[in-house]
Amino acid sequence: MVTEIFSSMVFDDATMEARLPKNTYKALQRTIKDGKHLDPEVANVVANAMKDWAVEKGATHYTHWFQPMTGITAEKHDSFISPKDGGKVIMEFSGKELIQGEPDASSFPSGGLRATFEARGYTAWDATSYAFIKEGVLCIPTVFCSYTGEALDQKTALLRSMEAINRQALRVLKLFGNDDVTSVKTTVGPEQEYFLIDKAHFDARKDLIFTGRTLFGAKPPKGQELDDHYFGTIKPRVAAFMKDLNDELWKLGVLAKTEHNEVAPAQHEMAPIFTTTNIAADHNQLTMELMQRVAKKHDLVCLLHEKPFAGVNGSGKHNNWSISTNTGINLLEPGDTPYENAQFLLFLAAVIKAVDEYQDLLRITVASAGNDHRLGANEAPPAIVSMFLGSDLSEILETIENGTAYDSHEKELMRIGVHTLPKFPKDTTDRNRTSPFAFTGNKFEFRMLGSSESISCANAVLNTIVAEELRQFADELEPATDFKTALHDLIKKTIHDHKRIIFNGDGYDDSWVVEAEKRGLLNLKTTPDALAHLLDEKNIQLFDSHKVYSPVELKARHEVKLENYTKVVNIEAQTMLDMVRRDILPAVSAYCQDLATTAEMKATFAGVDSTYEQETLKTLSGLSGSAFRTVKKLEQDICESKNAEDATALADFYKTTIISDMQELRLAVDEMEVITPSEVWPYPSYGEMLFGVR
Ligand code: ADP
Ligand code: MG
Repeated sequence: MVTEIFSSMVFDDATMEARLPKNTYKALQRTIKDGKHLDPEVANVVANAMKDWAVEKGATHYTHWFQPMTGITAEKHDSFISPKDGGKVIMEFSGKELIQGEPDASSFPSGGLRATFEARGYTAWDATSYAFIKEGVLCIPTVFCSYTGEALDQKTALLRSMEAINRQALRVLKLFGNDDVTSVKTTVGPEQEYFLIDKAHFDARKDLIFTGRTLFGAKPPKGQELDDHYFGTIKPRVAAFMKDLNDELWKLGVLAKTEHNEVAPAQHEMAPIFTTTNIAADHNQLTMELMQRVAKKHDLVCLLHEKPFAGVNGSGKHNNWSISTNTGINLLEPGDTPYENAQFLLFLAAVIKAVDEYQDLLRITVASAGNDHRLGANEAPPAIVSMFLGSDLSEILETIENGTAYDSHEKELMRIGVHTLPKFPKDTTDRNRTSPFAFTGNKFEFRMLGSSESISCANAVLNTIVAEELRQFADELEPATDFKTALHDLIKKTIHDHKRIIFNGDGYDDSWVVEAEKRGLLNLKTTPDALAHLLDEKNIQLFDSHKVYSPVELKARHEVKLENYTKVVNIEAQTMLDMVRRDILPAVSAYCQDLATTAEMKATFAGVDSTYEQETLKTLSGLSGSAFRTVKKLEQDICESKNAEDATALADFYKTTIISDMQELRLAVDEMEVITPSEVWPYPSYGEMLFGVR
């Protein structure tokens, strides 16, 4: 029964209430709700109860579970055992062990942070995210910092950004007289896309094993052109996987809700019900991990790469984001009264201004070597950040900006705080699938995120940029004597100044690129192009003033992201070289020998046609020669890259020279594949991989 297994492996609120003494429970609640410091005495009691609960559920170890800058989660297991007289052991877990850990941090990327400080890293319990049991290990969600408090992980900044938006949103809400609201949190529901292929096919491809994506592969006779996979019947093996996955996620309290086939063959999606952002981030990490683990049990492999296959859609993560109060009000939901509408419009204006002023940051948060194939590259939509509001809402904003009547038969001017917004059906707001940042009735859907990336960084940025705009709004409105007029003028001005970011048309159309340029919007095509803006003064200032990233922490992130880009492309290039030299060219060469022998044999018979053998031999020899020359060029260029002056120059060199060599090599190889017999080709084909799970 779902209701029985749900959250059964989570030390959640109900479990805490049942297992902790009343006073301890209350003290812990205060820590969770108001961020109060946890008393060591209380921590000891909590730790002991947690351990007893975990041991009853079969756990033997515990770990501080954290998210280093690699984007995946890290854990180091310690057992509960503690020696006792007489050679026996008892199971122990102290408050100190619960609250703080000290993993050796020296092998995690730090972007130079540890060179300046100390090799040790510290993990500290994020009490707002429940502990859980995974594979017999009690996992304690933690943040990960250096000795001097610099964040070495993804989560610290996310938590800080939640505080920043809480602070500023409360100021704004106060202006509207919401005295009952004591905290504001952002909420996220991340839709996760992925591919499932047969494990045997995966195991036979070095590119998938080493890089997560196919580096070669000719187009199959059929791709996604018939659109027959999207929402299609789920195949039995996939259905069995999904059932298992849901069970595992539910046990961990992840609100897995919908599942369906996606556009590309072998592509699927899972969407959870939204929750508080930092918990959603933890849950998304768990989801990705479990998808991969559960797939293996079904002899499948789950590919989370943004572009595992050329020629069909890549995978993303749609980050549904909103802001809500502790009194249960969604601040991005248009209300029923003029008063609620005014508040909604102000928050909407803040988001519009934030997205326009920090296009670069939003683009940067989704920048990675993998996601470059989904954004800005050939085959992929442009990497321009814009917002979709739908025609109804856009029309309302226009009337506010121009002071004109909204509806022809109403003949009234839209006055904020006086008039009620007309109701617009939710349907009309959610039909543009091409917008990178779409308003969907009561939330925004940020669609640029890559499928493999942690959602922490994107949401830390989203929270911070909106916090900044709310700060500016509060600064302006707080001293106003006539609040209503000041509010109206502020919203009107914001719309006027930032409407260029609103685009309701087809974001995949080439004409949009031209139009966007006219509007002065950024089009940062690749990761190095985007990263060039991270350390712009305005961005350093933003994060520093809201205490989300110090300048040092931001520089570290820049370095880690840049290095990661170059390393990923380098691994791909090395994998290509290995595949071509050791598998592909030898296979083609051996096959050429067969062709030659057959052609020679045929020639001994008068009138026997050997056109096929001769022509194929000629074409394959030509292609393998050109592939070989490109291999040598790629090798040379990799050597030459060592002369790059710094990390930025190196990334740029990879972006242009190395990637173009790789594309050239792929072209020759894919051409060879289509004229080589299937059994000779050393790898499973696109057709087999994409249509192999039945
Ligand atoms: P669809 O996009 O298919 O119409 P929904 O709009 O219901 O479906 O939800 C899509 C995703 O958005 C789900 O993960 C859902 O939980 C999430 N979502 C809905 N409301 C909010 C909200 N207020 N904040 C964050 N995410 C939300
Ligand atoms: Mg959606």
